[in-house]
Amino acid sequence: MKIIILTRDKIQLFLYLLGIILCLFILFPYFSNTKYTKGSLNRITLLVDPGHGGVDGGTADHLGNLEKDINLAIALKLRAQLRQSGLNVFMSRETDTELSPFIKGRQGRHRRDLSARIEKAKTTGSLFIISIHCDWSTDRGRHGMIAFYNYQDPAGKKLALIVQEEFNKIQKTPQKAAPGNYFIIKQPGVSGVLLEVGFLSNPEEAVLLQNKEYQEKIALAIANGILQYCRNLSST
Ligand SMILES: [Zn+2]
Repeated sequence: MKIIILTRDKIQLFLYLLGIILCLFILFPYFSNTKYTKGSLNRITLLVDPGHGGVDGGTADHLGNLEKDINLAIALKLRAQLRQSGLNVFMSRETDTELSPFIKGRQGRHRRDLSARIEKAKTTGSLFIISIHCDWSTDRGRHGMIAFYNYQDPAGKKLALIVQEEFNKIQKTPQKAAPGNYFIIKQPGVSGVLLEVGFLSNPEEAVLLQNKEYQEKIALAIANGILQYCRNLSST
């Protein structure tokens, strides 16, 4: 049997090392938590959905500028901003195309198109579908950006409220997020928001919506809202 005799120096060294280990042990949760917060944004996947596309132009302004093109322009800017922040972003479409082709004699193209978008949100494991649209009204005076949610989807509602706050920072008249009866945000198993970024029937807003800087501003407001939501999620 080997007997180890510890000298005073060795005991002091041992206690010293024990102190360092204890300190690391206490500080570990702090460091690991910081890492978790940063890393967790990478683990969040979203589907950005530019409304309409291809055979479906959506609404139009008085000059014939189509909603589908504005939706896509803003969506691509939004994707770039979200990716820069580390989020994992998919698009329902990246070009001017429909998700379900028009077939002569076959009904329900629009519904099939929307279903394909929802399917994409499911297969990509997206936390949210962010559907971007422009509005239209017979009242040319109507204007403003509104975030819609499904009232049965608390996560979607929370996101809509945050995005609405960001919208209100960049629009003259504050609006309220509202429940909306839209097919794309009321499917079970998929959470999301439908964002109406302005009225193409309003001449002033129609001009703004063609402006690339204004589109960038809208994309940034949406991105800020999404990031706020995701960061809250990561820190809880
Ligand atoms: Zn639309």
